[in-house]
Amino acid sequence: MTEPAFSRIAIVGVGLIGSSIARGAREYGAAGEIALYDADPDVRTRAGALGLGEIAPTLEAAVAGADCVILCVPVGALGGAAAGAVPAMKDGAILTDVGSVKGEAARALQAAADGRIHVIPGHPIAGTEQSGPEAGFPTLFRGAWHILTPVEGNVAGADEALARLTAFWRALGAKVESMDAARHDRVLAITSHLPHLIAFNIVATAFDMETVEQGEVVKYSAGGFRDFTRIAASDPVMWRDVFLNNRDAVLECLGRFSEDLAALQRAIRWGDGDTLMREFTRARTIRKAIIDAGQDSASVNFGRNAPKDEA
Ligand code: NAP
Repeated sequence: MTEPAFSRIAIVGVGLIGSSIARGAREYGAAGEIALYDADPDVRTRAGALGLGEIAPTLEAAVAGADCVILCVPVGALGGAAAGAVPAMKDGAILTDVGSVKGEAARALQAAADGRIHVIPGHPIAGTEQSGPEAGFPTLFRGAWHILTPVEGNVAGADEALARLTAFWRALGAKVESMDAARHDRVLAITSHLPHLIAFNIVATAFDMETVEQGEVVKYSAGGFRDFTRIAASDPVMWRDVFLNNRDAVLECLGRFSEDLAALQRAIRWGDGDTLMREFTRARTIRKAIIDAGQDSASVNFGRNAPKDEA
């Protein structure tokens, strides 16, 4: 791009997502200056050593003068971070986030807003199971969706603010779409939150089964289990907050899932191969639709390309 979308951004929370934004913004020229703040002094030191940008000693120092403040902390920490950031933000600046649940994120950001700034919650549909400033990489968002869930507000210039934030994420390679927060949370409950819950649970079950030796679980893990362990290695704080803050949508999906699982259980018990064939064939067509939509590759690699190769 020719001109940065923002002269100065502030990234609050320098983990996988925050550090990837910093790296991407620099690599693709999406922001002039990049200020970073993390509540953990050790993370601030490590982010400084990685050369991610200007490491601020306080939240207020990071956000002062920024055109856009991006909160990259766990969903449960958004309210506190927003309340600390807003009084130090300049008039007309944008407050956004990357939280995986948008209803609660919007409420947390709006509760802190004081009528001088633009609140535009967001969520990049991109990530890995790793955490911390070392885990980030500049191409994380390339080709990925970035969902914005603008809130109702009467701050003048809202359309321009949305356009600038959209330009920023496009510069990082993302495909940007606006969506209602409740709809986002229902869609992500089935596409992301429930799969993680299943992964956490299947790994816990395998390790709890008294007949399964730990060595055997690891030794024979290629049989599908390995993919669940990768997902289940995701950050526990982040996922605790996702489930606590998207409770209704997750419970609705979990109820349907449990009914469908019980139907498969019955088919297995009664030797009903026709039902199993019908359900497994239908699942295959959904996999094909995902590949056709460019959301994954059909190559025989079990999805284990390095994230950089996938971008
Ligand atoms: P992460 O690697 O664990 O980084 C989060 C960082 O924020 C940590 O260094 C944490 O410090 C810090 N932090 C916590 N509370 C803070 C506060 N009040 N002020 C400043 N810093 C604070 O997490 P992440 O994976 O980047 O996730 C960040 C956000 O992105 C979450 O809301 C998550 O839902 C969302 N997200 C994640 C993914 C993914 O795949 N990981 C994908 C899309 C969206 P401490 O560790 O000391 O608490």
